[in-house]
Amino acid sequence: MQSRKPKFQGQNMSVHPLYKKSMGFSVRAMWQYKCPKCRGKKTALFKKPFQFTKPLDMNDSCSRCGQDFEPEPGYYYGAMFISYILSSFILLPIALVLAFYFEFSNLQMMAVIILLGVLIFFRILRVSRSIWIHAMVKYDPPMKARPKILGRDQ
Ligand SMILES: [Zn+2]
Repeated sequence: MQSRKPKFQGQNMSVHPLYKKSMGFSVRAMWQYKCPKCRGKKTALFKKPFQFTKPLDMNDSCSRCGQDFEPEPGYYYGAMFISYILSSFILLPIALVLAFYFEFSNLQMMAVIILLGVLIFFRILRVSRSIWIHAMVKYDPPMKARPKILGRDQ
């Protein structure tokens, strides 16, 4: 693990409070597919424009900090479980409410759930990959980029 302590002029503390505040998980950075290391641009992880035939086409590395987005083959295997968990958490409560509160039949309920599942499918796939790499790669932006990031993440 790297331990680089940022220095701030005129302040006698090891970690600047603003810097400390922006550490750790950022749901917004995951949701916007930002690079996990520098959290620079939106949709840094995936290639643009979005293509239905290649929904998981990712950039090789970050254009800003050089973070590798596929460090090893099969890196995103575990993201499969995240997408499973995410879709269960979203769809299961809806299915239960439809079945027990609105008293839908099984067939009606399944139709609604499958339709919803199709609608959120690509988003879930991509967000799972984003969560996966954000969980593995530590937030560690290049030093010169930090004040800018701090200003924006407030
Ligand atoms: Zn980056």
